[in-house]
Amino acid sequence: MSLIVHKYGGTSVGTIERIEAVADRVSAAQRAGNDIVVVVSAMSGETNRLLGLASELSERPSSREMDVLLSTGEQVTIALLSMALHKRGIPAVSMTGSQVKIETDSAFSKARIERIDADNIRSELAQGRVVVVAGFQGVDPKGNITTLGRGGSDTTAVALAAALSADECQIYTDVDGVYTTDPRVCEGARRLDKITFEEMLELASQGSKVLQIRSVEFAGKYNVPLRVLSSFKDGPGTLITLDQEEDMEKPIVSGIAFTRDEAKLVVRGVPDQPGVAANVLVPISEANIEVDVIVQNQGINNTTDFSFTVARRDMEAAIDVLNGVVERLGAAGVESDDRIAKVSIVGVGMRSHAGVAAKMFSALAADNINIQLITTSEIKTCVVIDERYMELAVRALHSAFELSGSKHSV
Ligand code: ADP
Ligand code: ASP
Ligand code: MG
Repeated sequence: MSLIVHKYGGTSVGTIERIEAVADRVSAAQRAGNDIVVVVSAMSGETNRLLGLASELSERPSSREMDVLLSTGEQVTIALLSMALHKRGIPAVSMTGSQVKIETDSAFSKARIERIDADNIRSELAQGRVVVVAGFQGVDPKGNITTLGRGGSDTTAVALAAALSADECQIYTDVDGVYTTDPRVCEGARRLDKITFEEMLELASQGSKVLQIRSVEFAGKYNVPLRVLSSFKDGPGTLITLDQEEDMEKPIVSGIAFTRDEAKLVVRGVPDQPGVAANVLVPISEANIEVDVIVQNQGINNTTDFSFTVARRDMEAAIDVLNGVVERLGAAGVESDDRIAKVSIVGVGMRSHAGVAAKMFSALAADNINIQLITTSEIKTCVVIDERYMELAVRALHSAFELSGSKHSV
């Protein structure tokens, strides 16, 4: 007998009909002799609807109450799916994050899972029940409801799979696997049979929302076999694997990720002296704002410009912090731009091949796309561009690196 964690995202549970279809899939897996834990998201559009209600009421709602509000979406789905399973004669029990005991820190809206008490789930499984767990939510040490960030149900699923030493964690979604890039943006995108954890981690961190980044981190750290599959049609999906087999046919670039979720900030005329980066970024991190791409220009006349990106939702808060920094350091001023996009190419093959970044820049130049910031890691090259050219850039790079077909070249 195997223990399998299934996770169904918003579209997969978006209507009663779809919840019934999920119940059929779960029943079949249980009747085949497996122990099944199911993690579900809110019905599609529900989390956004709740966010909309809060923003109608208040510009900066309390983050604690926001999490109380947003966690309700998943609670609806666990009850409905459990009822659908009962209708099929399958014993099932729903559990919220606090009923399982998914303990998190207290960072509302982006809480991190610290510990999972898996005993409650184990005892339900031992009594032959399917356990249906609300994704995306946990409970902090004081008993407050917390949420794990957008897309957080993936992380709930993988963390539960790790805590229960599950045989596999299956992420059922509205695409039939991980593609070379988002198939909604690039027609030629191709499903990958396998992708390494390392590559998936980079793709997720660069904006591929098919898996939340923390879920991939957990899967890598606890060695959870992870697969992305379609909830609508049967198929092998994509296996996220630890193997790094040397495959001659393996492309140098495996995938392209992109995001419009960031904003660029430039602090102009900062005194160019030791501690510049710390002077600008320490107050930002103290405000709990995560920084992504960072570029410090060569100083001229003892001053320098310092640019970086943050999540778009944090831009206003970052500007407030930077205005204080500008005053304290006697810098020239702060500029911001929230009409940027970040596009990244990712592949473990980039480690051993030269010329990949140059090829990327040439492809963008051929389409007249101006690059504002560049950052690289061993297996990634990322550019920040005007958001109007994001889709054009993704398609140009997909074609330059021949990701649609079977031939690959640098
Ligand atoms: P769910 O609601 O099931 O969690 P998400 O919307 O969070 O689903 O993630 C699935 C979506 O991720 C797909 O519909 C697709 O548009 C998008 N996506 C982005 N990048 C990729 C990629 N490389 N491969 C597959 N899907 C991707
Ligand atoms: N419902 C949450 C969201 O829309 C969590 C999830 O779906 O994973 O982000
Ligand atoms: Mg998702």
